[in-house]
Amino acid sequence: MPSPVGHSIAGWLLGRRELKSAEGRRRFWLLWVWIVFAANAADLDFLPGIYAGQFKLYHHGMTHSLAWAAAFGAVSALVFKRCWGWSLKRGFMLCSFLYGSHILLDLFGIDSDYPRGMQLFWPFSDVYVMSPIAFFPGLANASLAAVFSLGNLKKIAVECLYMILLVLAAYRAQIAQLFRVSRSASTIKEGV
Ligand SMILES: [Zn+2]
Repeated sequence: MPSPVGHSIAGWLLGRRELKSAEGRRRFWLLWVWIVFAANAADLDFLPGIYAGQFKLYHHGMTHSLAWAAAFGAVSALVFKRCWGWSLKRGFMLCSFLYGSHILLDLFGIDSDYPRGMQLFWPFSDVYVMSPIAFFPGLANASLAAVFSLGNLKKIAVECLYMILLVLAAYRAQIAQLFRVSRSASTIKEGV
């Protein structure tokens, strides 16, 4: 599973257009906080495990399902409509996608602990689902000490490299535009 760093970057990529439209408004920072929260909310399933004394007891269960992504999107859409006057569709699309991005990234993370994968189709099925291909290094998360270990820091660095590739892909049009501008500027200089 990716770390909160990777999930937050993915959330920012998904919410960047809404953030741009909120620039200069009071809601800007609130929206930032909500985007980071929504992209990481599925991992709140660690909390009951900490309370029960078994860190991963409920991890990758029902909160990592498509049904929870839809429910999170629906509740958030109602809040956004009431607070900011957003349409229900706009709030639902943003928030369910943010929540769903977490599930998607986790699906492509190495998971070596049994049961492997997540209950993607809960409540219709209790089967744990995982992708046969995994990109993201599996973080040690058997305990709080393991979570904050040096080994995990190295894995987060690898994960950041993947996320940089995603950021480059998302901004490819702007990067290509920058290259075009600098090329035409150097052509003009050569002409002079
Ligand atoms: Zn997760």
